[in-house]
Amino acid sequence: MSGSGRLKVLLIDDDEDDFILTRGILQEVYQDQLEVRWLPAFEPAEQALVDGDFDVCLLDYHLGQRTGLELLRRAIARGCRTPIILLTGNDDRDVDVEAMKAGAADYVVKGRFDGRLLERSIRYAIGYAVERQQTLEALRLSEERYALAARGANDGLWDWDLVAGKIYYSPRWKSMLGYSDDAIGDSPEEWFSRIHPLDIDRVQAEVAEHLAGQTPQLQTEHRMRHDDGTYRWVLTRGLVVRDAKGGILRAAGSQTDITQRKAAEDRLLHDAFHDALTGLPNRVLLLDRLERSIVRMARRTEHRFAVLFIDLDGFKVVNDSLGHQTGDQLLIAVSRRLETCLRQGDTIARLGGDEFVILVDDIEDLKDVLNLADRALQELQRPFLLNGLELVTTASIGIALSGSRDSSAETLLRDADIAMYQAKSRGKGGYVVFDEAMHASAMTRMKLEADLRQAAMRREFQLHYQPIVSLRTGRIAGFEALLRWNNSERGMVSPDQFIPVAEETKLILPLGLWVLREAAEQLRRWQLTHRTKPPLKMSVNLSCRQFLQSDLVYQIERILLETGVDGSCLRLEITESAIMDQVETALAVLARLKSLGIRLAIDDFGKGYSSLSYLHQLPCDVLKIDQGFVARMGAHGENSEVVRTIVALAQGLGLEVVAEGIEAPYQLTHLRELGCQYGQGYLFSHPLHSEDAGQLLARAPSWSDSSSTLPDRVAATGTGWNADWMETSGFDLRLNARPLSGPD
Ligand code: C2E
Ligand code: MG
Ligand code: MG
Repeated sequence: MSGSGRLKVLLIDDDEDDFILTRGILQEVYQDQLEVRWLPAFEPAEQALVDGDFDVCLLDYHLGQRTGLELLRRAIARGCRTPIILLTGNDDRDVDVEAMKAGAADYVVKGRFDGRLLERSIRYAIGYAVERQQTLEALRLSEERYALAARGANDGLWDWDLVAGKIYYSPRWKSMLGYSDDAIGDSPEEWFSRIHPLDIDRVQAEVAEHLAGQTPQLQTEHRMRHDDGTYRWVLTRGLVVRDAKGGILRAAGSQTDITQRKAAEDRLLHDAFHDALTGLPNRVLLLDRLERSIVRMARRTEHRFAVLFIDLDGFKVVNDSLGHQTGDQLLIAVSRRLETCLRQGDTIARLGGDEFVILVDDIEDLKDVLNLADRALQELQRPFLLNGLELVTTASIGIALSGSRDSSAETLLRDADIAMYQAKSRGKGGYVVFDEAMHASAMTRMKLEADLRQAAMRREFQLHYQPIVSLRTGRIAGFEALLRWNNSERGMVSPDQFIPVAEETKLILPLGLWVLREAAEQLRRWQLTHRTKPPLKMSVNLSCRQFLQSDLVYQIERILLETGVDGSCLRLEITESAIMDQVETALAVLARLKSLGIRLAIDDFGKGYSSLSYLHQLPCDVLKIDQGFVARMGAHGENSEVVRTIVALAQGLGLEVVAEGIEAPYQLTHLRELGCQYGQGYLFSHPLHSEDAGQLLARAPSWSDSSSTLPDRVAATGTGWNADWMETSGFDLRLNARPLSGPD
């Protein structure tokens, strides 16, 4: 992250639509912790990469007539240090390995990534860039060393008399290969016979080309056999000398030992495909091997393989409580144990964190794979001895099998990942094989996620408002804003269906802010047209994740300022579980909200932790009795104990109490008898569109008008307000209504 704490991303893509799409995904993940710069053209993008100043770059493979690969190579040649993730198309598979060799930190396939995948890739890329930098530094040092060495005439020299067919080799040339000065003669064979068999043809061709005048200089890297039988990498450089007529006389040049540089280069290549901590193949290499298995399967249909996605249970606890060093040691130990379970041809990779994947190649049937999973689980269950500590851990494994449908490497990994989550949710320490039902539900879920992402842009969200009624006066004390998603394909989607998904994808954060702003603006409009005393209130639901968002209080303060709504008119409804998830943070946030004058309501009270023990510590003002308790109340007042207790509790603590889900007149009667102050439910009104809610509100003052009965008036205007309850419950508004200025 840059100094500002935000992630600075350079997005290079010549297609503006694609850019907007990628940026959208980034914004969902990083919210306002993100700075994106977009450059569509090759040259400015190259310059920006060279100038640096970005944490990471997402680079599209297709850039007009040119390619991202070319840009990648040029930028890296010019010293670019920013980690670059290449965005490739479906059919650019060969590009991937090329990209990694050229120094890309990672690649992702366009159109196949979502926020989670992209975030993961960026995290790896930034980590990888640090490692790569260290290796490059080592390489630079070694090159510097070469320059010094050459100055000290440490290179071997050779001088070839092409007419006589003899070569002079300097003592250093010979000692570089482990020979004393008199151990090597002057024939060209002394040189060529020691060149590595795999290099000899190439070197001879390069020498011939230079002698033929096709290259300005001879420069070739190859291996030479040392006297001790090993091979050394050398760089041979030379120049031919011609006579006046252009005939060749001699050639002369140098030989440099580049074994160290080659080793550093090899390491760089190795690093690009391996995990630094455990030395296991990394995700890139795994995907490459998976790709190969898929190709093999296409050629030989009976070729089957499987992917095991392994995730340690409770690794975070180890890391947090025993420190990262112990965590790292555990990961290394786990790698070694898992390696012992493999058969020849299998690959184990570490994807990062505590995620490992085994690619089981060439299986006969499912039993092979399950045996391996069992063995892996057993291996990991044996205690680990680290620094004198005995650590016990388990793992959950998700298994995906090849060939069940047309699958790519990424889909297989994702399937195994989904199955792994299933295994976790079934109680950890076990495995689950991915099946079609899981696939179907994952697909449904993905579609929902995708639609949900579009929904904000398409303005498919609306707020409905349900009146909260004073059970004493029958007047509307306020409204609860309830979110609705109106999707063309799905119709009206219930928040119970999409809020959990929005929570998981963090979409809830922008969405929740929209709800707050929309509800506040609506409240302000109503307060201006209906100047009641006390003023109308608005209740807004907050979900768990929103509640723990660091800038929530600041955002709410801003909304209040910008809409002109007084904090005391806003009620935030939070469920018990949202608070109990992180009590400390929750208490701090609640205190700050309170300081803005905002009222806090515990939603669905009694349903969750039930929570009498901590209630007095919470700075809350309102309890909303869960509708389940209201529903269970009998026609003759039976089963009312819980409600009675909650009302008494609220009274004892000086809290307001609202009963939710009032549907029947007898429920209303009992609730009033129990002294419940406020109510909400279909009996009064369903949640209404803002216009209908506004109309309902407009009629409210006339209820104190005794010239006609309320049921008549309601029938005459006929909207959502359900008038029947008044007659049946004996709850007469005209008797109970107080002057508008009185307490409500
Ligand atoms: P909730 O906050 O407990 O809201 C009350 C739910 O009960 C609403 O369902 C409402 O339509 C329904 N309801 C009201 N009166 C009656 C009744 O007489 N009988 C019955 N059976 N139900 C009644 P809805 O609108 O489907 O919302 C469900 C839940 O979704 C809400 O429960 C709330 O937890 C959540 N939700 C709704 N809007 C938002 C939002 O903007 N943000 C967040 N984070 N959550 C929201
Ligand atoms: Mg609520
Ligand atoms: Mg509720």
